[in-house]
Amino acid sequence: MTETRRNYVNGEWVESETGETIDVENPADPSVTVARYQQSNESDAADAVDAAASAQDEWANTPGPERGRILREAGTLLAQRKEELTDMLVAEEGKARPEAAGEVQRAIDIFHYFSTKAADLGGTVKGASGRGTNLYTRKEPVGVAALITPWNYPIAIPAWKLAPALAAGNTVVLKPASLAPGVALELAKALDEAGLPDGVLNVVTGPGSEVGSEFIGNDAVDAVSFTGSGQVGEMVYDQATDAGKRAQTELGGKNPTVVASSADPAEAAEIVASGGFGTTGQSCTACSRAIVHEDVKDEFVAELADRAESIDIGPGNEHEMGPQVSAGERDSTLEYIEVAENEGATLVAGGGVPEGDEVEEGHFVEPTVFTDVDPDMRIAQEEVFGPVVAVIEVSDFEEGIEVANGVEYGLSASVVTDDHTEANRFLEEAEAGVVKVNEKTTGLELHVPFGGFKRSSSETWREQGDAGLEFYTIEKTVYDN
Ligand code: NAP
Repeated sequence: MTETRRNYVNGEWVESETGETIDVENPADPSVTVARYQQSNESDAADAVDAAASAQDEWANTPGPERGRILREAGTLLAQRKEELTDMLVAEEGKARPEAAGEVQRAIDIFHYFSTKAADLGGTVKGASGRGTNLYTRKEPVGVAALITPWNYPIAIPAWKLAPALAAGNTVVLKPASLAPGVALELAKALDEAGLPDGVLNVVTGPGSEVGSEFIGNDAVDAVSFTGSGQVGEMVYDQATDAGKRAQTELGGKNPTVVASSADPAEAAEIVASGGFGTTGQSCTACSRAIVHEDVKDEFVAELADRAESIDIGPGNEHEMGPQVSAGERDSTLEYIEVAENEGATLVAGGGVPEGDEVEEGHFVEPTVFTDVDPDMRIAQEEVFGPVVAVIEVSDFEEGIEVANGVEYGLSASVVTDDHTEANRFLEEAEAGVVKVNEKTTGLELHVPFGGFKRSSSETWREQGDAGLEFYTIEKTVYDN
């Protein structure tokens, strides 16, 4: 029997006042409903904000070590449930099991990491300012933080917003993506069992246009942290900042790997395939453009096509690459493939839906490689968010950097080269928040700052590590005479 899951508001598991639910299907086999979630509305969202606002003062004044203890304990509970959470993630989002297990582990590690930061959030003593006056800074929470998250990392992204927000003494309302909300509710369950006071965290499922909008528009919300598409994110940013709230938006990418003439084509193809086809190409940092020097292009394309064709596609529990998350996302990728063909790009691998019993029903797309791509084509400019890599040929390194920078996004960028000078030049000139040498565009440790340039990010704030805490704190300078 399909389980119906409830919202978590003021320490209780509650139903929406709409009485309606959302079915979440397994993307590898949409005939299977994994779970039902509350289809909440503005009023449910407003109740959650009220609960968070009421709990704010007490949580802000809970000693940091106690806040840290709760995060640590919740992380340990999540670790005990790692297999169960991995099952849920594969069933709802579809990614391959090792990737899902890695993501769950990341959420656990994030809770443990920020548990140590909670006790450490004191101000800095600046020394005396004249006789009898102590001068120091103190860090205070921003207040009520609204977190709105996407489906592609449905446990790691909520965790990397939630843990610093709680560590710093904020209370939280969280709206997970409707396509895969289950694992975010598990974060609430673990925190509840670890002793989080009522109202400190509230999780409400339902449409972004209702629940998310109410969070952003509600006067009692002080900060909005959003990760998702540019289309929604730019609207969210304007709405939140117009209302005088602190806002952070982490959006899309069109991430390049530049392959220099000195690169080994096989090594470069491995880096691009891993960055482009990992998590079915559904990472904000996925490599979707390989910008390749003409001297190594033919060999590189052959190597990349070989890798694309050898990827084992099927349900995430048993196969290397899972489905796309929904029929809508799969169709959008297939449309981009058609657009690229119509624009004159040459298909060298994939390009359709795979065949076979195991993949017949799910939202699968073949890993796809296009060559003869012009930098102005839509396939080279727009975020596809599926397993598609466009190969663009360039005749020198400078042109490679120029093409890499010639898009409206700037999240992650990498270069494959044997030349140290070229590598340094790329690190200096690439317009991206994360720049890498001889590495794939995807993947980042949890303690380093993450965010983008241009339309990939609101730029003012970064997530993860100590930088991630800054969004959730306000610093005061104190003269105490
Ligand atoms: P999305 O459609 O923009 O949705 C993101 C979240 O916003 C969901 O929870 C969604 O709710 C909610 N939402 C939708 N409309 C809203 C509105 N009017 N007001 C407030 N909230 C609203 O993005 P997605 O398809 O889930 O995620 C994929 C995108 O995220 C890609 O573009 C990817 O590059 C980006 N991403 C960026 C990063 C990064 O760190 N830069 C990381 C991961 C993903 P519903 O689910 O109910 O629609």
